[in-house]
Amino acid sequence: MPCYITYTNETTHHLIREALPRSPLYSGKINSTGPRYCPSIEDKVVRFADKDRHQIFLEPEGLQTKEIYCNGISTSLPEDVQWEVVHSIEGLENAMIMRPGYAVEYDYVSPLELYPSLETKKIRNLFHAGQINGTTGYEEAAAQGLMAGLNAIRRVKGEDPFVLKREEAYIGVLIDDLTTKGVDEPYRMFTSRAEFRLFLRQDNADIRLMKYAHEMDLDDGLYKECLKKKNRLFAVKKAVKEKKADEDMIQLCAKENINITKGTSLESILRRPQISDTLADELLLQVEEAHEADEVERKQIAMEIRYDGYMERELAKTKRRQQSLELAIPKDFPYEKVHGLKFEARQKLMKVRPVSIAQAARIPGVDPSDIDILLLHLASKKASA
Ligand SMILES: Cc1cc2nc3c(=O)[nH]c(=O)nc-3n(C[C@H](O)[C@H](O)[C@H](O)COP(=O)(O)OP(=O)(O)OC[C@H]3O[C@@H](n4cnc5c(N)ncnc54)[C@H](O)[C@@H]3O)c2cc1C
Repeated sequence: MPCYITYTNETTHHLIREALPRSPLYSGKINSTGPRYCPSIEDKVVRFADKDRHQIFLEPEGLQTKEIYCNGISTSLPEDVQWEVVHSIEGLENAMIMRPGYAVEYDYVSPLELYPSLETKKIRNLFHAGQINGTTGYEEAAAQGLMAGLNAIRRVKGEDPFVLKREEAYIGVLIDDLTTKGVDEPYRMFTSRAEFRLFLRQDNADIRLMKYAHEMDLDDGLYKECLKKKNRLFAVKKAVKEKKADEDMIQLCAKENINITKGTSLESILRRPQISDTLADELLLQVEEAHEADEVERKQIAMEIRYDGYMERELAKTKRRQQSLELAIPKDFPYEKVHGLKFEARQKLMKVRPVSIAQAARIPGVDPSDIDILLLHLASKKASA
């Protein structure tokens, strides 16, 4: 069904600003921290005061109803203000509100009270998953539900807890962050929270995790297929490493106006940014072993070869981070001037003013990617001192 887009405007923002003292979130009636990444319309108007409009998606609730979900104007303002706000928006001048918006203040159990298996430390055999652990989001809740359910069953069977590592899966990053750093606002999973984000991909999920499904007898025979695939990928990559450009490859590249010289390694050719996906596939097929792999697998191989250098860099960064934990951060460190820090990280670093990289890394919301940026900045300051 079609969805529509409209925008708030200056009148909307004026109405909201006038009504702020009546908002439970601003009057102090509720003092919890709202979800940073799904702010209410009053939050947006206050936090992004320089914006003169905010986008709203109008999404039909279903085929049998005239009800429309207004995505982008969640609010806890009083009902009379909500009517005025809605009517101030272009296209909604005559809209009827079927159910006014409201805010829910959730309680949560500190995830520091959990083992990495998601069992509570205080009550044996009780497992917690989802937003009760201070997270927000569908995937965050589902991922924890999977792990808590799995570990509850393993307990019943007398088996050891099953814990995924940070370098194996986003689930590992999520649960490790929760149970070691705790939360000071609703936690959301981001790729930047992972040290090895180039390695944690959909296309290699089977290679990363199928062995566990197999160990738990849940793989339905897929593990065997997965091992075969792993061997196929390995064989092609090995052959690519050894393959040098010949006349056929020179011709193929010439079609895209790319000059290569005889004897150049195929691996280095595939890494050139100008090579299109189609050409990469044609070049790969110059290797006999690649004919054993299907198109999806060949795409994966080409991508892994392209990103190989970046993945090595990722590993090097992790090593550097671990070696730099003791590094001191000056008290007056100018976080506001450091480019590239996440907004959330900058805010928390300025509040805590950690004395070392180790302390910075323990702050909820400060991720490995933020630490890398801090290290770069500290190194450049040292060099210029
Ligand atoms: C308006 C809104 C929009 C959102 N939009 C998004 C979005 O776009 N993307 C996103 O990723 N996340 C979104 N979220 C967040 C996401 O919905 C939640 O974080 C997630 O659903 C939490 O899942 P959960 O299983 O932990 O809790 P819930 O889904 O709240 O499940 C808890 C369940 O327990 C039941 N329950 C409570 N007490 C009892 C009891 N005593 N006995 C038995 N049952 C009980 C409840 O009825 C409920 O079914 C949104 C949330 C809201 C409110």
